[in-house]
Amino acid sequence: MPLHLETPLIESVPLSLASGRSIFLKMEALQPPGSFKIRGVGAACEHHAQNGKRRFVSSSGGNAGMAVAYAGRLLSIPVSVFVPETTTERAKSLIGQQGAEVIVHGAAWDEANAEALASVDAETAFIHPFDDPLLWTGHATVIDEVVRSGLAFDAVVLSVGGGGLFAGVAEGLRRNGLQQVPIFAVETEGTASLAASIEAGALVELASVSGIATSLGARKVSDRAFELSRTRPVESVVVSDADAASACMRFLDDHRVLVEPACGAALSLAYAHADRLAGYERVLIIACGGATTTVERLQAWQASY
Ligand SMILES: *Cc1c(COP(=O)(O)O)cnc(C)c1O
Repeated sequence: MPLHLETPLIESVPLSLASGRSIFLKMEALQPPGSFKIRGVGAACEHHAQNGKRRFVSSSGGNAGMAVAYAGRLLSIPVSVFVPETTTERAKSLIGQQGAEVIVHGAAWDEANAEALASVDAETAFIHPFDDPLLWTGHATVIDEVVRSGLAFDAVVLSVGGGGLFAGVAEGLRRNGLQQVPIFAVETEGTASLAASIEAGALVELASVSGIATSLGARKVSDRAFELSRTRPVESVVVSDADAASACMRFLDDHRVLVEPACGAALSLAYAHADRLAGYERVLIIACGGATTTVERLQAWQASY
């Protein structure tokens, strides 16, 4: 049985009014660990459990780590999450609440990740946050659900970090005969690794990432994500941190749901950049969620712009 929930699909009156077209929201923010990540992570963890793995390891102090911790708790499999010293107390506490062991190692993510990989043995499954076909198959269920509901849509909007959600949604569209439906792939200025690769015509790695959309902070997208940008209809969009923060605050008022700037980036296409959606009448936005922010932090960001 899948570990994720079937989430609500709602027509958003406020976002439709703001953008001048029909906007539908797939409410992944309502997944118990806070984001869509449990779809792919849950599928991967179930696969590994069935294949005899007895421990899961993650090196994400964000929503992927939370999803692995949640999946491990549901499957009664111990989880270790390796995070760098920069990880917030809130993130460590959310992972710990799910019963996972949190191991703080190193000043930056690379060191925590190396330590995580070094701890992997024959009985351990390392769960990658975005670059694994098992994840994409799980993420694709978000589109299966929308199609099953009977909704017709002519574009999909989503956020891109390492491109796992993007690859999963592309797979979901393909397996439902919707491979021609364009995907708007949204990043923030400080995390625009897909946009940089598209512009360079080759997979590039950013020297650094910056800004408030930390869940989008992969310096390089997966090979698969870059390949998709060349082989299916994709519109790359880059928005500002101010757009992302402001979208989160408006979304909180409009739909009474708190999401991270990583999700606000996608929502800002309806709130602030509807010109990019010209020609599309029924747009599906994956409200990907994210559990690492608070109202207080959002207010502080908004005040700083
Ligand atoms: C992980 C994450 C993303 C980006 O997903 P990728 O698969 O890395 O592209 C976007 N939003 C939230 C809330 C996330 O947790």
